[in-house]
Amino acid sequence: MGAGLLMILYVAVALLPLGLAWLQGAPPRSVADELASGAGLLALAIILVEFVISGRFRTISRRIGSDVTMRMHQLVARSALVLAMAHPFLYRGPTGHAPEWDISRAQSITWDFTAIWPGIVAFALLPALVLLALGRTKLDFRYETWRAMHGIGAVLIAGAGVLHATRAGRYSADPLLGGLWWGMFGVAVASLLFVYVARPLMRWRQPWTVTRITPAADRTWEVTLTPARPFAWRYQAGQFAWLNIGHSPFSFHENPFSIATAPAQGPEIGFVIKELGDFTGTIGRIAPGTRAYVDGPHGHLSPAGHAAQGLALIAGGVGIAPMLGILRELAATGDARPSTLIYGNRTAGQIVNPDELAALARDHGTNVVHVLSEPAPDWDGEAGIISRALLQRHLGRPNHRDWLYLLCGPPPMLEGVEASLLAMGIPAQNILSERFVYD
Ligand SMILES: Cc1cc2nc3c(=O)[nH]c(=O)nc-3n(C[C@H](O)[C@H](O)[C@H](O)COP(=O)(O)OP(=O)(O)OC[C@H]3O[C@@H](n4cnc5c(N)ncnc54)[C@H](O)[C@@H]3O)c2cc1C
Repeated sequence: MGAGLLMILYVAVALLPLGLAWLQGAPPRSVADELASGAGLLALAIILVEFVISGRFRTISRRIGSDVTMRMHQLVARSALVLAMAHPFLYRGPTGHAPEWDISRAQSITWDFTAIWPGIVAFALLPALVLLALGRTKLDFRYETWRAMHGIGAVLIAGAGVLHATRAGRYSADPLLGGLWWGMFGVAVASLLFVYVARPLMRWRQPWTVTRITPAADRTWEVTLTPARPFAWRYQAGQFAWLNIGHSPFSFHENPFSIATAPAQGPEIGFVIKELGDFTGTIGRIAPGTRAYVDGPHGHLSPAGHAAQGLALIAGGVGIAPMLGILRELAATGDARPSTLIYGNRTAGQIVNPDELAALARDHGTNVVHVLSEPAPDWDGEAGIISRALLQRHLGRPNHRDWLYLLCGPPPMLEGVEASLLAMGIPAQNILSERFVYD
């Protein structure tokens, strides 16, 4: 199923409750009341579908990319917030207890406490959840604490929202729509159980052992894992995985890292990890032999399945990790397509595995272009940032238009390079990128 079809499916499911409400053919009320109901129905549907799109499902992330999925999760959550906040204030009809005979709740907006309280709970929790997500990096929470709070908060909001809709809603009083709400809530909870219970159980049976931790550059390490018992773990060069070192497979202590090894190199997998915070700051102290669990592979940053004439890899900083995996795969499989690596860093000390990159250039013929923004006086390579002029110099020939462009690095670099490539006439579908930061 392609990305376009997935998007159509997403929109169809989000609009399904509205469609079912419309098909009921109930006598119309005032425009304001219909808008209020519509806003509530749409907000709840979006909230329930959010569980699936943000649930680390490989089928979704492999086709759309995890960063795009997360961006979509953030944007639609904001739309749901606006709709949910508007919902109670749009009503204009009379409030009170619905008469016994008014089973379709057409005559009045119910004010029964049993129907209203879940709505109040969801109404209060939703902005708190969104604000905590927006301000996460500024708040003094550990990432794992925030993630647990985010998941529990989302389930409470979804459950309270469905309870409110089925008890108070005019259209949701219909058994078909009421059933759909509980069905969607079931799928949302099942998707959480799948990610946090079923998949960890599967991982338990596939433990890894840390075999080597070697310095790769300034404050950057290469971590190598071996299956602790024989099992097949398939991935494509350039994908990423959630890595948990030294914790139970059910732990929230797991971080996403690109796989820097190549499938063709054998069962070992490796990651290039830069020291940044709580977990990555301890990498250099992890003892070989430590147990690890890997959730993946995820992501779509891979040349696999693309029949491009050549490959352009553009990396900034530790964004080199997936590119190393791709270059190692090209070399290990003897892929004869031309390739260029443009690799930006601040200083030469930050270049990961410079000797290996030089060997790849020599033995495999990859055109490796180092770009330093703060070079030493004796640096004779490219200096500055990865600008359009620089890209034009190295990737400006007419045949480069049909190459596949794989990008990974800090968000400003990605935005600049994407804009430059598009301005150079590279078709958007030939550009794949991975963000390491979702904020
Ligand atoms: C798809 C993807 C691939 C990545 N690949 C690499 C790589 O190959 N090499 C590399 O060095 N870094 C990579 N990163 C970044 C890496 O995940 C973070 O640097 C790391 O998780 C920081 O953890 P920390 O506990 O040391 O830092 P903290 O100080 O705890 O966190 C710093 C920031 O890192 C992010 N972060 C922390 N924990 C998580 C988590 N569990 N899930 C998601 N984000 C988190 C958050 O934005 C947080 O604010 C990648 C990120 C993503 C999303």
